[in-house]
Amino acid sequence: MSLFNLKITALPKVGPKTAELYERLGAPTVGDLIRMYPRTYEDLSAPVKIADAPSGESVCIRAHVVGNNPPARVRGGMTIYKLVVSDDESQMQITFFNQAYMYDKLKCGGEFLFYGAFKRNINSFEMVSPAVLSPESDEIIHPIYKQTGTLTSRKIEAAMRAALKMLPPSINDPIPKAIRDKFGLCDLEFAIRNIHFPSDVKALETAKMRLTFEELLVLQLGMTFRKSTAKSETSHRIKQDFSEEFYRLLAFSPTDAQRRAVSECIGDMMSPAPMTRLVQGDVGSGKTAVGAACCYTAVRNGLQCAFMAPTELLATQHYNTLCEMFGGCGISVALLTGSLTASKKRAVYEALSCGEIDIAVGTHALFSQRVEFKRLGLVITDEQHRFGVAQRAELLGKGESPHLLVMSATPIPRTLALMIFGDLDLSVLDELPPGRQKISTYLIDSAIRPRALNFLKKHIDNGYQCYIVCPLVEENDMNMASVEEYAERLRTTVLGNCRIGVLHGRMKSAQKNAVMNDFNGGRIDVLVTTTVIEVGVDVPNAVIMMIENAERFGLSQLHQLRGRVGRGSVKSHCILVSDAQNEATLERLKIMCNTNDGFKLADEDLRIRGPGDFFGSRQHGLPELKIAGMSSMVSINDAREAAEMIIADDPMLSKKDYRPLAFEVKRLFSNVGGTLN
Ligand code: ADP
Ligand code: MG
Repeated sequence: MSLFNLKITALPKVGPKTAELYERLGAPTVGDLIRMYPRTYEDLSAPVKIADAPSGESVCIRAHVVGNNPPARVRGGMTIYKLVVSDDESQMQITFFNQAYMYDKLKCGGEFLFYGAFKRNINSFEMVSPAVLSPESDEIIHPIYKQTGTLTSRKIEAAMRAALKMLPPSINDPIPKAIRDKFGLCDLEFAIRNIHFPSDVKALETAKMRLTFEELLVLQLGMTFRKSTAKSETSHRIKQDFSEEFYRLLAFSPTDAQRRAVSECIGDMMSPAPMTRLVQGDVGSGKTAVGAACCYTAVRNGLQCAFMAPTELLATQHYNTLCEMFGGCGISVALLTGSLTASKKRAVYEALSCGEIDIAVGTHALFSQRVEFKRLGLVITDEQHRFGVAQRAELLGKGESPHLLVMSATPIPRTLALMIFGDLDLSVLDELPPGRQKISTYLIDSAIRPRALNFLKKHIDNGYQCYIVCPLVEENDMNMASVEEYAERLRTTVLGNCRIGVLHGRMKSAQKNAVMNDFNGGRIDVLVTTTVIEVGVDVPNAVIMMIENAERFGLSQLHQLRGRVGRGSVKSHCILVSDAQNEATLERLKIMCNTNDGFKLADEDLRIRGPGDFFGSRQHGLPELKIAGMSSMVSINDAREAAEMIIADDPMLSKKDYRPLAFEVKRLFSNVGGTLN
């Protein structure tokens, strides 16, 4: 029997209540549990000296006990046990709460590994309730699992040991032996055992590599299936290309890249299968015009179009652009967002269903149940972030398979794009319209901040506006200010008399819109914000973007943020503030200063940070990957190559050898939805 059919309650000490917690973690069965990999590890394999340990981080220290007192009972029935350990150079104080048994374990003179959060006080070093291991322990690398409620990592660990005992003598390995041999991968059993309880660092790396490979392979195969199953016939095949006619409506001439993308789209729409295409283009590369060209052609061929944006702000922006373009040629455009009054909405619904409206621009409201189109033939979604695999599949499943065009401003390295958007065809806008001003980017440390603020002030005095971006504040992050605190502090600086606005994700949408409208209308000089302004916002009068704690962001994200300035005819600037000392970090930030090319930055990001960020952000609506984000040494190309070999051999994965692999594909996509059999 498969362990995926064995309920988690089959494990010792797991009752129905605990089972609920496991379910919450995504492990309703023993099989799922085994595939729930550690979040991270306590690495006791490389102890550091007390004097060298970085404050605030989890470290392992090897030391012997030089002094202790028996546990003392304090208020509330709590016991405290304090001891002093030494590594022959320095001493460290350790405190345990309610772990009186440690007194028997940690005898004076005994040597141990202590693992925990290390704290440097003014004249002492300290750890509280560290994990303790014998230096001879074979659990030198210790798994830490994501925990929930009363289900701690330790408890999960115990369950995991019990679960691994249930593994059958030979496990069905989803990666066939030939592929394992070719790409130098270990087998599944070794990988599973060592991802949880690694025998050493090397075994852990081997396990990670194999499991990452497997996950990417499974993802790739799943996406490829989606692409081939999505390609049914469409009843919206168009007959004629009207793009030249469209170009005459524009105030500018299209770039070669825009022309190429448009003709690829139109080629798709003229073929029997529906278009499922992604247009990737850097910020400002002119994606809207590409979308508009497709709309124009579709409408001239008798179809209706839906043009979808992730926010009302962007939808309104597009609506205005399209109205301007199509004002004089008898194409009717309507705006549909959640905040329209009920009667206005009803009017739009009616006009859509009787076919009076050719193009509907809007937010997700476009796909509410109430909306019916007469002959919806083309769907365009801008800034794909919130439009995932499931929604794409759902849409294509709707009625008569409309053409789908996804536009994305997040440059992704080609290899990754092929995997993340494996169910789409790809067009790239690799050229900016002529005459764009380069945004100058500088890296400064916080000591220079006052001068930077003067620079902002000068621009504000000349009537321009600025953004200041602060990273999201995580819990127990004492060193960083929230946007509100930051804005408060700004009032004591040279910007004290400026109009300062605040924007963050926890504000209500109406509040956010009000602030954005004020900024748009020039009633705010400085907008202190989190990354909520990352996507699409277009305020040409904003000419400086200052980013605090820049080291916290990935290059692609920094680039996306920077794209909010440089939208007008005025020279724009981006100031990265960081006190990071780490050389790799500084290298990364310097790349920002040296290039404005989003694709180059994406390649660098991939090289430096690994693919985790691209997969991990959940921006793409991919199924949740368990491990690809953990490893930075993933051979994406290898996984792709393997997928191609397998598909060439057996496109439906119906051979016996591939059955475990087919099972994994189904499992990965099981909670994504859509049409996968
Ligand atoms: P993005 O790709 O970031 O969505 P937009 O479509 O918003 O870019 O275009 C950015 C700006 O560039 C718009 O003001 C648009 O009118 C202008 N634009 C687009 N294509 C061209 C072109 N070929 N020549 C000149 N300006 C263009
Ligand atoms: Mg855009």
